[in-house]
Amino acid sequence: MQTEYSESENVIRRLHEITQAYDKGFDVQMEALIRLGMERFKLEIGILARVEGDTYIVDKCVCPEHMPLKPGDEFEFGMTYCAVTCEADGVVAVEHVGQSDVLGAHPAYRQFGLESYIAVPIHIGGMTWGTLNFSSPAPYPRKFKPKDVDALQLMASWIEVEMVRRRQEEQLRSLNAKLKEMASVDPLTNLMNRRAFMELLERSLNQMQRCKSGGEAAVLLLDIDHFKTLNDTYGHLLGDKMLVEFANVMQRNLRSYDAVARYGGDEFIIWLGDTSREGIEAVCDRLMSGLDQSKAIDENVTVSIGIFHFRTRVAEQDWMAEFVHPEQIIDVMIAKADQALYQAKAAGRGQYQFNSEGAVYLDTLS
Ligand code: GH3
Ligand code: MG
Repeated sequence: MQTEYSESENVIRRLHEITQAYDKGFDVQMEALIRLGMERFKLEIGILARVEGDTYIVDKCVCPEHMPLKPGDEFEFGMTYCAVTCEADGVVAVEHVGQSDVLGAHPAYRQFGLESYIAVPIHIGGMTWGTLNFSSPAPYPRKFKPKDVDALQLMASWIEVEMVRRRQEEQLRSLNAKLKEMASVDPLTNLMNRRAFMELLERSLNQMQRCKSGGEAAVLLLDIDHFKTLNDTYGHLLGDKMLVEFANVMQRNLRSYDAVARYGGDEFIIWLGDTSREGIEAVCDRLMSGLDQSKAIDENVTVSIGIFHFRTRVAEQDWMAEFVHPEQIIDVMIAKADQALYQAKAAGRGQYQFNSEGAVYLDTLS
């Protein structure tokens, strides 16, 4: 009785150690748990198997080297003892299969000849997922006891809880990823939203600051002309379609290291990194003719563009320190692009305007 007791305590203590070792990962924990079961029951084969339709799939297993059993191996479900286990309410334990009514006539016995077998079904979300089973070719030298059944049930309970937890964790992870994406994407055009663009702009400026050779870049504000009239004439849905079309035109015409976002309403914002005045003009021309060729409505749609074109000095190390907050410089840049946009609108729309003759040194803005 004394040994029986301490043996059980030993199982619980080791099970506790295994289940707490989250940092090792589920696969390592699972193998340790199977080995613990094999040691506890003194059986040669330990398997965690899942059942999918009529197929029994070895998920994890530990067995003697001469046995060619490995994870991923598949068997016909009806040809395994587990078909019986999955029907059972709890643990199935048979010491000498050849002499038992439960499994003696089972085809699996004729095929594999495993004499001793103890197994428990694994249920997840009210469905039978598979089994945890231990077996040996030799008959069991003693009787399985209630303590054995308890130990196996304890292992199965942990597996069930852990699998549910992992599924929930996975669901939570993908939900969080989706939320993060939703928080940074404009749902109509699938472009970045204003918040995500501001973060990108800050990162890009920091990168330029670290670049000792200096750089030249631009921020463009774009606003569709007379969009309110288009909405009123053709309806809001067609207006939406126009916005999506223009978003596609911009995405098609920018380089991978440029960025475009929906700034709000019919207004968009573009970051052109590493560019020259000619480069900016070429982009503006492409965007304007791309929008012109759009077939969403039977009317010429134009866009006005305000450009803030700037450069950073060679070996200029700390020009951003002049600004109290990093976003302060961004506000100034966007305000300059907005002034240029206002001029483009005032000058008749359907055109682009720079905020200055040449690229402005960023440190002169503070
Ligand atoms: P301007 O040439 O001066 O830009 O004239 P505008 O009519 O385009 O004026 P403004 O840019 O101020 O108007 C933007 C309009 O865009 C107002 C609003 O009804 C419309 N709008 C804003 N968001 C959406 C949207 O998501 N879908 C649609 N269809 N229309 C929108
Ligand atoms: Mg507009």
